[in-house]
Amino acid sequence: MFCVECGQEGHIFRNGLCIGCYIKSHSFSNGPKIIDLVRCPHCGSYRYKNSWLSGDFKEIIQHIIKNSFYVNKELKKTGMSIECNETDETTTCKVIVSGFLDGIPVSEKHMLNIRLKKMVCDVCSRRFGGYYEAVLQIRADKRKLSEDELKMIRSMIEGFVENLRIKGNRGLFITDTDMRHGGVDFYLSESKPAQTIAKKIYEHFGGEIKQSSKNIGMKNGRQIYRMTYLIRLPSYQKNCFISLNNSFFLILSISRNKIRVVELSSWKETIFDSKTLQKATVMGHEKLIKNAIVVSQSKDEIQIMDPDTYKVVYVRKPQPMFFDSDKVKIVKLDDHIFLFPEKTKLF
Ligand SMILES: [Zn+2]
Ligand SMILES: [Zn+2]
Repeated sequence: MFCVECGQEGHIFRNGLCIGCYIKSHSFSNGPKIIDLVRCPHCGSYRYKNSWLSGDFKEIIQHIIKNSFYVNKELKKTGMSIECNETDETTTCKVIVSGFLDGIPVSEKHMLNIRLKKMVCDVCSRRFGGYYEAVLQIRADKRKLSEDELKMIRSMIEGFVENLRIKGNRGLFITDTDMRHGGVDFYLSESKPAQTIAKKIYEHFGGEIKQSSKNIGMKNGRQIYRMTYLIRLPSYQKNCFISLNNSFFLILSISRNKIRVVELSSWKETIFDSKTLQKATVMGHEKLIKNAIVVSQSKDEIQIMDPDTYKVVYVRKPQPMFFDSDKVKIVKLDDHIFLFPEKTKLF
């Protein structure tokens, strides 16, 4: 037998052709010459087959091209390499489909153009419409939120939202924020992640969390509820004095629901959980720290002049130690005077 095309004697693959001539006269892959891609000018998402994707342009292009090409099943061990060249006007891609037919390598080249069109995506149009499904209300008990807390809360919420968006939740966004009543409100587009964020803030700062809901209508055939999560931060903060069960403490640090404190009469440090401190009373902040003149001192006791009454009073030292200055820092809480815990020489 000989090939009707090249005349060579040998094995005829199909239709009177040797495999070499069969490969030359057939194409094994097919794809579009033009791909129209819709891009949102605000968030950079791309629409493909009626759904919006966010991600890197090159990755999305690869994904779309791979999905829009036909490759003959006769071809084994197939591969596809895509190389795109972006210019201001257009993107041209070279697609090479490769594989093996009966062990003979086959390679086919295709060129295609990507045309970009602009359109506001579903998420951005919701965002511009002020859409929200949840409100995170953050307040503090019996006080305003501090600047540090506000900064911390803002970066936590923005970080969580960003993180969830990277993980694929492109429908999540912060619609608005509003400073009010000494606290802050965050409006979020989705209630489930809002609940997760609310819990994280609560776990970090302690305090209390409450939720309420309101039916706001239908979305994709489902009832939608607008959730409000109220997180009330505890009344105490770092560097504030508190009383608990007839003892007095200075708060050294707060991390999650662990609060490191120092007891003022012994200068001993302990850690409380936020639940324990719910019963604590906040006495005040750094403003309560005063200087007092040292009159005399022994190993266990110090005699000072009360800066308010000018009376000389005895204060027990938390441990045997010596103050080598003529002034010491004190804190007056209720009727008690404590030496302010500072690094001091031991006796
Ligand atoms: Zn031939
Ligand atoms: Zn968008």
